Amino acid sequence: MSAEQAAEQATRTVTAAPLAPAPRPEIAAARRIVVKAGSSSLTTRQGTIDADRIDALVDVLAARRRAGTEIVFVSSGAIAAGLGPLGLSRRPNDLATQQAAASVGQGLLVARYTSSFARYGFTVGQVLLTADDMIRRVHHRNASRALGQLLHLGIVPIVNENDTVATDEIRFGDNDRLAALVAHLTRADALVLLSDVDALYTGDPSRPGSRRIADVRGPADLAGVELGGSGRVGTGGMITKVEAARIAGIPVVLTDAASAAHALAGDAVGTYFHPGDGRRRSTRHLWLAHATTGQGRVTLDQGAVDAVVKRHKSLLPAGVTGVQGDFAAGDPVDLCGADGRVVARGLVNYDAGEIPNLMGRSTRWLARELGPEYEREIIHRDDLVVLAAD
Ligand code: GLU
Repeated sequence: MSAEQAAEQATRTVTAAPLAPAPRPEIAAARRIVVKAGSSSLTTRQGTIDADRIDALVDVLAARRRAGTEIVFVSSGAIAAGLGPLGLSRRPNDLATQQAAASVGQGLLVARYTSSFARYGFTVGQVLLTADDMIRRVHHRNASRALGQLLHLGIVPIVNENDTVATDEIRFGDNDRLAALVAHLTRADALVLLSDVDALYTGDPSRPGSRRIADVRGPADLAGVELGGSGRVGTGGMITKVEAARIAGIPVVLTDAASAAHALAGDAVGTYFHPGDGRRRSTRHLWLAHATTGQGRVTLDQGAVDAVVKRHKSLLPAGVTGVQGDFAAGDPVDLCGADGRVVARGLVNYDAGEIPNLMGRSTRWLARELGPEYEREIIHRDDLVVLAAD
């Protein structure tokens, strides 16, 4: 073969080869990364801590930390690690026993992380968050400041939901979304979700014909993908991971714990969710929109729907026509139009029982008749998130 032919052949070979997945410079260059690991990557089937796998994961995190990257580690496994010590063979269904297991398991987990990171001279700090820490302004600022200071002091924060006091009504429930919100809270550059499946697949990974989805750039890449089903001991199926990636809005890698080193190096493992349009919404608004469920409903007249949805105004008593549910001031509630469609969600300033006396009244009238404390809006615009476009 002449040199010319060889060159032509080489060109043809290159063009014919499938495109290699793009490397991920955003991950390799990230200065602050939130890494989340699921229960099944950290605990044994017997409901105890898997010390070897924890050490292997900490080896990877410590190496990246040594290279100068700040790491925030969101660790599940509190409930799973508490099962063995409590003599339970599987995850309990009732909340009180889950809380007890979390109480026992969380301490054991953090003790393990403390000694594992100490092998590299790193100190860890436990951070337990509740849903309130994300939605209530003062709590939110507080959590953000605490995490910021830990990072500033060179500590590796180990984050989990405060499962011992979380109630069913208002809890994250899965650590995927918690990790995405923590990424916002800490203004992280990247999020790595480590699960027991090495990537997102077009169908059940154990079925032949299921393909790994290497890159997700938008909803089109997920069309027709089955996201249902969750793991054995964790709570988040693929759907919570996809949602977490959407909430995070930064580069996100989804893979298994065994691929953690490659994932953190920016190699093309697992599934890479490319960042969205770069606009960060505030964490509180994300949480309200994606994770809370309304504790009740407030019905609005059309004028109020327009004011809230189109003009981003506060909800005033004058525009309220009905109230349903038993909520307290500060709870998240759904706002709906006359047709019952939910158009927004917000943190309400009054208990459910107070609202019927205020409905349809102007704030000026209320202040005059009931006192100045009744001049406040039903929901302040800063505590509102619009869920529907019209
Ligand atoms: N926070 C739970 C725990 O530590 C885990 C939630 C999850 O698996 O996503 O047990």
